[in-house]
Amino acid sequence: WLSLPNDRDVPVGICAGADVPLEPSAVDEALSVLETADTLRRLAEATPGYDGPEPRLSRVALTPDLHKGAGIPIGTVIETEHALLPQAVGNDVNCGMRLEVTTLREDDVRPRLDALERRLRHLFFEGGRRIALTPAQREALLRDGLPGLLLTGPTPWQGVEPRDADDGVDRVHASAFPAATADAFADWIGSAGGAGRGTGGGTGGGGGGEASHDSVIGGIGGGNHFAELQCVDRVHDAAAAHAWGLVPGTVVLMVHSGSLSLGHQANATALDRLRAHWPAGLPRPRNGLLPFLFDERSADDRRRYLDAFGNAANFAVGNRFFLALTMRAGLAAECGELASRLLYDAPHNLFWRDGDRTVHRKGATPAGGHADVAGGPYAMWGEPVIVPGSMGASSFVLRGHGEARTLGSACHGAGRRVPRGASARGSDAELDAFLREFRVVTPLDHRDPVVARRSDVMAAWRRDLKQEAPWAYKDIGPVVSSLRGGGVASPVAELRPLLTVKG
Ligand code: 5GP
Ligand code: MN
Ligand code: MN
Repeated sequence: WLSLPNDRDVPVGICAGADVPLEPSAVDEALSVLETADTLRRLAEATPGYDGPEPRLSRVALTPDLHKGAGIPIGTVIETEHALLPQAVGNDVNCGMRLEVTTLREDDVRPRLDALERRLRHLFFEGGRRIALTPAQREALLRDGLPGLLLTGPTPWQGVEPRDADDGVDRVHASAFPAATADAFADWIGSAGGAGRGTGGGTGGGGGGEASHDSVIGGIGGGNHFAELQCVDRVHDAAAAHAWGLVPGTVVLMVHSGSLSLGHQANATALDRLRAHWPAGLPRPRNGLLPFLFDERSADDRRRYLDAFGNAANFAVGNRFFLALTMRAGLAAECGELASRLLYDAPHNLFWRDGDRTVHRKGATPAGGHADVAGGPYAMWGEPVIVPGSMGASSFVLRGHGEARTLGSACHGAGRRVPRGASARGSDAELDAFLREFRVVTPLDHRDPVVARRSDVMAAWRRDLKQEAPWAYKDIGPVVSSLRGGGVASPVAELRPLLTVKG
């Protein structure tokens, strides 16, 4: 843990061991948020009739996976008083990780990986998804969240009855964001063209043909998002691992996905309004962060933003649920009957309001201690913290300690070593070696001889995949050690990838 002194006297700290590579420019960029301390004061002065309490920037914490992204770096946690910073949440509103523990064993899955790969490619990318929601169900999801959607009826999705879905709200960090309207997404709600309910029926693939209705919900999203089968490889905390069902050899499924285009739209709306109503004569901040104060004048803008934000956040939880159902359907079809139980669904792009204070996490996940999750299923151990490595490295489940210096936050991954878009590292030979050891399911079947002969298509596919290869990410070991060393969270179990679906 390193404190970073600054002339504005805002507590700023970073949790990172000496062996975690940090881009100095990412640290500089994170420190540029300190300008917001001044922005808040000046905005309050320049806002006609503002007589509320003084808005403040009160704390900044940086996680060990800190790296550059669009806007402020990923791994930045910001606490404000009497102010809200939409850009400190990240565009992919409520992007998060979902982890389910299945009743399958590694031996049930390994021998079936070829068939499973074909099945999952069909389900995820070739029209096999059957999640047809009615417009009323889409609206229920956006306004009332997944719990609201599950109340709309006994529709089976992918052959799984929602009531079997075991989506205990206490295993979802933030399960619903009630919104007064879903007007911002009327297009999507209406886009089904009156499509009927999914007939569900059977498990897995088969007919297809409903892809057009399902073009948004149940999509993984590109790049770093994934749906992955893993097995428990090592246990670091026997008691907690036992309590959480993380016995060596157990198959688990991990989903990383967000709100697809909905979050971007919610944030763009906020930014348009903040720009349009920025006080004349007040220079825009150099760091680009435009805050909402809680004044009367901006009430309408805030309400619209919060509704659209809630819609996007609700969509994201629902989407992770459907991605997991699709994974379960593939497993059931190829590896035999299974039950799958939600361990935790945790967001890493979100803000949390508690009285006057707002904690914004951009690419950082909550890591509450016992007291923070009192009364729930994790009161005994602390909040589960899901930290994926890469599609060719271990991922970790930890338990949080509610460390105040990080505002109760941990990193949500190993973090990129090189920014996305930077020239792809690694040779084709290295990629081939990786592909021999690990199984990746993408829309393109690279083993299909017809595909393999298209050298232009293969070259583009390889370039994209190298951006996601294990060497594009930091080593997970030192990142997890930093969390333990900093008192943020301690490791419970280590998971090893069996198969990764990448959009
Ligand atoms: P984000 O992209 O949301 O900032 O972070 C996601 C994190 O997930 C990355 O920092 C990386 O460590 C991890 N990650 C990215 N792709 C994969 C994958 O395919 N499988 C696993 N297990 N982890 C991944
Ligand atoms: Mn994410
Ligand atoms: Mn995301």
